[in-house]
Amino acid sequence: MNKNLSDAQESIKKSVKYKAWLFSAIIALGIGFFSMTFLPKDEFVRIFFFCMMTVTTFFPVNYFIYRMLSSDSRCEVCEAPFAIKHIDSQKKFLSAIPRNCIKNIGKVGGYGPDVGKQVMMHESWTEERYEITDTYECTECGDTHQSTRMTTQRTGYSGTKTRQ
Ligand SMILES: [Zn+2]
Repeated sequence: MNKNLSDAQESIKKSVKYKAWLFSAIIALGIGFFSMTFLPKDEFVRIFFFCMMTVTTFFPVNYFIYRMLSSDSRCEVCEAPFAIKHIDSQKKFLSAIPRNCIKNIGKVGGYGPDVGKQVMMHESWTEERYEITDTYECTECGDTHQSTRMTTQRTGYSGTKTRQ
């Protein structure tokens, strides 16, 4: 590995390390807690296994995530490690589609004039689609590349109940 990293590369390397630690700590703790549900109700055994599972999960996961993130941040043009930086994100509006649906959510219970009627839920919202373009730049050779992805989001949700 290249030992003469520029300051910009060093800071990207730090953030890659930080993200790898953070994600793998979350995954390892999750697996640690999950494994405890299979253990007998003995506190010593539980704590021992929890620590063991967390520690044994952490290192391989950390290694894997670190490898993945550091290969993502290697420039394809000049091959400098830890050189790719996210510099811009553009959100482009594509379409807004009105949606609605009617759900049967059960019968009116208890006492009163409406007992036995069906409760219907009328929902409506707007489904907005966006195209997001992320721009990345290499801090060493200045090469830029873009990647695009789609997202959808719901806006203007309203729901009303009727009895019939
Ligand atoms: Zn480059």
